[in-house]
Amino acid sequence: MDKIIFIVLDGIADRPVNGKTPLSSASTPNLDVLAERGILGIVDVFKPGMRMGSDTSHLALLGYNPLKIYTGRGPFEAAGAGIEVKPGDIAFRCNFATLKNGIVVDRRAGRIKDGEILAEAISREIPEIEGVKILFKAGVGHRAALVLRGEGLSYQVMDSDPKREGHPIKDIKALDPKAEKTARVLNEFMKRAHEILSSHPLNEERRRVGEPEANVILIRGGGVAPKLKRFEEKTKMRGCVIAAATLVLGIGRFLGMDILHVKGATGGVDSNVKGKIEKAVESLEDYDFVFVNIKGGDEAGHDGNFEMKKKFVERVDEALEALLGVDAFIVITSDHTTPVNVKDHTGDPVPLLICGDGVRRDEVKRFTELEAAKGGLCRIRGRDIIPILMDLTGRSEKFGA
Ligand code: ZN
Ligand code: ZN
Repeated sequence: MDKIIFIVLDGIADRPVNGKTPLSSASTPNLDVLAERGILGIVDVFKPGMRMGSDTSHLALLGYNPLKIYTGRGPFEAAGAGIEVKPGDIAFRCNFATLKNGIVVDRRAGRIKDGEILAEAISREIPEIEGVKILFKAGVGHRAALVLRGEGLSYQVMDSDPKREGHPIKDIKALDPKAEKTARVLNEFMKRAHEILSSHPLNEERRRVGEPEANVILIRGGGVAPKLKRFEEKTKMRGCVIAAATLVLGIGRFLGMDILHVKGATGGVDSNVKGKIEKAVESLEDYDFVFVNIKGGDEAGHDGNFEMKKKFVERVDEALEALLGVDAFIVITSDHTTPVNVKDHTGDPVPLLICGDGVRRDEVKRFTELEAAKGGLCRIRGRDIIPILMDLTGRSEKFGA
């Protein structure tokens, strides 16, 4: 059966600036070839006008209904950081931060890079509190994730992160009487972690050289881990994920997909895009469905940098040359629009391109926001894409006789 490479150019779609978007003004010879060979359309990733995060949007693009299963970012972040999250676990996103006299003076502890060493010390010394198992792991940079496993827990608690620097760290409070135990465990965890971190040799060294010490853990974004149908069970396709963003890796892990690593993949505009695309092509040998997230366009959008976003589109295009001779279905889309003039996600639809054996080629020759809207797929929802692909590749079952 036919195989699929599904590429999400994260946040690549935009709104026009002087009549042009980064996609429409970039030179994209390879994308143009794919567009000419394929069928295009635009996608409301979940619903028209709905602003999506990268987590909810990726769930929708992979064929799931985020409204039914999404409980917060924490569980996906934790899975992405490498914690084996189980249904019912309560998961949080965390930051290593700098606390001085009860005030959070740096929410990222000078963008510390040695979080792993600190996280190991914490996991070793705090295996459990009140019978609740504590799983704590460092993510990229100053980020980390925390999972609580045990009886009588709830995610209905307030964050300890004041979200702004120069403000006191907050005690975690229960938003629901059922969450009292969780709040107690979290406050105890923060207190003990603060003691461990304050006396850790790494922080003694940071104090000595005048760097902000990572002496406290800020907790936010709690959610209960959902039970999701595995991607393979749902689609009968063996899938893998190639991405740098922890959140996307976490979603892949949750859905039971394999995670493949590529050297130099950073999740930024400097990422090894070529390496990712080459890895995707190689992986067709072992997988039916290769999912690739390329994040740089979103970063440039959040930075409000049109030129950077346009140049990134051109870098992606160069890498896509490797796909031109590949015998597989190629899907290219985005997870949301991140306009450089808004510097955040908006609810505009995103372009979609599908090429492969048997697709009804349309007249559209460019992968841009406006050109795609003239394509044969018209306007569809994000979670319609997987069923369309299953049909195109001969995997869907007939409804009726
Ligand atoms: Zn995104
Ligand atoms: Zn974003």
